Amino acid sequence: VPDGGLSTLFRRDKPSSPLDGVDVILADLDGVVYAGAHAIPHAVEALTAAQHRGVRVGCLTNNASRTDKTVADQLVSLGLAVNPDDIVTSPQAAIAVLGDQVSAGSTVLVVGGDGLTSELELAGYVVTRSADDHPAAVVQGFHPDVGWRDLAEAAYALADPGVKWVATNQDWTIPQTRGIAPGNGTLVSAVHTAVGRLPDVIAGKPERPIYDLAVTRFGAAAPLALGDRLDTDILGANQAGIPSVLVLTGIDREKQVLAAGHDSRPTYVLGDLRELAEPYPVVKTSRDGKQVEVRAAAVRLEGNVVRILRRGDDRVDLLRAASTLIWTCGIPIYALEVPEELYS
Ligand SMILES: [Mg+2]
Repeated sequence: VPDGGLSTLFRRDKPSSPLDGVDVILADLDGVVYAGAHAIPHAVEALTAAQHRGVRVGCLTNNASRTDKTVADQLVSLGLAVNPDDIVTSPQAAIAVLGDQVSAGSTVLVVGGDGLTSELELAGYVVTRSADDHPAAVVQGFHPDVGWRDLAEAAYALADPGVKWVATNQDWTIPQTRGIAPGNGTLVSAVHTAVGRLPDVIAGKPERPIYDLAVTRFGAAAPLALGDRLDTDILGANQAGIPSVLVLTGIDREKQVLAAGHDSRPTYVLGDLRELAEPYPVVKTSRDGKQVEVRAAAVRLEGNVVRILRRGDDRVDLLRAASTLIWTCGIPIYALEVPEELYS
C-alpha cells in the first residue's frame, strides 16, 4: 500500500522535537549524563545546546551520599556548566518534606552521610546519631559507611510510633565501579523488618517530593524529565505529571520498554540525547489500532502475534512502533507473541 494511501487511514500527530516548548530539563545522571567516571556520548553536548536555547538544565539524583556541590563539580569536570543550585538531591527533598512532619529545630536521627547531615544542619535541625537523644524523626539515606549500629539506632528510635521516618529513596540497588551493590531500599528494609513499620515519607524518585521541589525551585512551567530507568525516572515523572524521555544509554533497553506497565511509559524514546532537539518522528496508528508505523518502520498485530512488516532505517523507530502497538493493543504482553528481534 503506498504511503499516500495510508495517510488518510492513519491518525497523524504533529511532529516536533521533545525539547520544543520546554523551559526546564530535569535530568537523571547515571545512565543519562555519565556512566561511572565517563560522560555518555553526546549527552553533555546536547544539554549544553539546550542551555544555549535558554532551557535550564536541572539534575535529579536519588544518591544521598553526595552533596549538590560534589555532584555539580563532577558535572563541570565533564564539561556541563551547572551550579550546585541546579542539582536536586533526595536529601534536599527529604528535608523539604520533613518540615511537614516535625518542627524546625527538632532533633533528627540520621542514618547516612554528609549529603544528609549538611542539608539537615542547613535547615536548622539538630543532628544526632543516637536514639538516646529522643529524636523527633529519623531520616535515612544511603552512605557506604552505614552499618549495623546506625540501623539499630534507627530501630530503637522508631520503636516510638510518634517518631517520624523519612527515607531519601527506596532504590534496591546502587551502581558502583565494581558492580551493582545493595542500595538504600535494602537498608530501609532491614529497619522495616526489625520495627514492623514503613517510612512515613519517601522523598526521592519515583515519589513526588523530589519533583515538586525541583519544579518549585526552578519555577518550571513546562518541564521535561530525562531518565534511563522506567521504574524510577519515568514512573516518577508520570506520577508528577511531567512529560518524559527514556534515553537508551543506561539501564533499561528495548525489552523493558516493550514490557513497560501503564504507569511507566515514557512520552519519548530516544537512542541518545542528540535527538532531544530533532523532530520526533510521527507515530501513525491505523484506525483499527493493529498497525503502527514510525517513518520507514512498521509493525502489525495479527491475532496475538506482533509482526515486523518493515524494519525501517533506525532501530529506535522500530521500537517506537512496536512499543506503541503493544501498549495500545489491549492484550497484555505475556499473552502476545513478540519477535525476539525486537528486544534482543
Ligand atoms: Mg539513571
